[in-house]
Amino acid sequence: SLKTGHLREGPDNSREVDAAAPLSTEATEPEKKSKVLVCARCHSLRHYGHVKRADAEALLPDFDFVAAVGPRLASPSGARSLVLLLADASDFDGSFPRAVARLVAVASEAHHADWRRGAPSNLPRAVLVVTKLDLLPTPALSPDDVHAWAQSRARAGAGADLQLAGVHLVSAARGWGVRDLLHHVRELAGARGKVWAVGARNVGKSTLLNAIARCSGAEGGQQGTLTEAPVPGTTLGVIRVDGVLGAQAKLFDTPGLLHGHQLTSRLTLEEQKLVQVRKEMRPRTYRLKAGQSIHMGGLARLDIEDLTVGSIYVTVWASPLLPLHMGKTENAASMMKDHFGLQLQPPIGEKRVSELGKWVRKLFKVSGDNWDKNTMDIAISGLGWYGISLKGEAVLGLWTYDGVDVVPRSSLV
Ligand code: GDP
Repeated sequence: SLKTGHLREGPDNSREVDAAAPLSTEATEPEKKSKVLVCARCHSLRHYGHVKRADAEALLPDFDFVAAVGPRLASPSGARSLVLLLADASDFDGSFPRAVARLVAVASEAHHADWRRGAPSNLPRAVLVVTKLDLLPTPALSPDDVHAWAQSRARAGAGADLQLAGVHLVSAARGWGVRDLLHHVRELAGARGKVWAVGARNVGKSTLLNAIARCSGAEGGQQGTLTEAPVPGTTLGVIRVDGVLGAQAKLFDTPGLLHGHQLTSRLTLEEQKLVQVRKEMRPRTYRLKAGQSIHMGGLARLDIEDLTVGSIYVTVWASPLLPLHMGKTENAASMMKDHFGLQLQPPIGEKRVSELGKWVRKLFKVSGDNWDKNTMDIAISGLGWYGISLKGEAVLGLWTYDGVDVVPRSSLV
């Protein structure tokens, strides 16, 4: 048993535990020695009461939802699937599980014919769940606007005709929207449905599932805390969450997806702490002229390359722990050489600069006609975004490490 030291780290960071024996007592009979693999997340949930150990999670390989769960989604017989697509309000485009969204969109299309004929259909459906809503400057935003914005970003992310059965804006930390989400999921899942919760690492999935379980418990459900069981055939720890949806419907928690295009996936835990947004985001606004640049730590830089008017307003939305620096573009190269990893952190330490990859530029042509409203956002996945406001035309250069997604989008705030 675990207590007597039969725990071993497997090659994929899974741990072999004695599944048949009760975890707290020693197995005595030989037949109880049959082994199953339990991933580090399940292990952590079972033993520490929460699905989170940043150190263990950092070592876990990526989970391929499309390969592991995809074939189960669109089965013409059997129970209907509902996929909860989680996206972090503070890093929507970086965290949105776009490959899974595309899978759902395509699988739905395959069943579209049935649906149009009015024949019974098991097309998988999707609900968009925007997590950590409390991180947005909520008083300045109308929920309807965030709702519409999130829906259009999800469609853009899926790159296909994604039909959403619902959009929910939640904050598990504050308890916002959790009850509505639970009720809607129960309704959509029906008596025998299967619900899959999917999201990038750190999107807030564990926190949300715990909040949902507590809410269910408070409403007289089976229990107020999560229990889990490994799901056979999904080697990397898909967990069945019991007692939330009723007797027959099933809720599955899937391992957090590793998004290589999210800058955070390249950072050390120490560096991530400087980048992750933990409190309501506060804007930092600068007025810039052509030939000026603004750095977000040593992770991204925006150059005002050309401007048809005198100045442009740039608002940085990012962790308050991230140092910003405004200066002349002509000095940018020496800033990088002399200050990245030192005054401009993260990266922490000069050595880390080259480890993060090649420093590359993307060009944007922007035109705007209003000072009051941001013309557009340029988001850097896993970091934050620059909100651009101008009356005129501008050519902007955005620098970051190669492979990190840079997403121009309609402005959120
Ligand atoms: P998971 O990897 O998707 O399971 O994410 P976790 O649930 O472990 O959350 C990742 C981080 O986000 C943790 O530091 C949480 O405290 C934080 N977090 C989760 N939900 C919320 C939320 O609703 N609001 C805020 N501000 N932070 C949250």
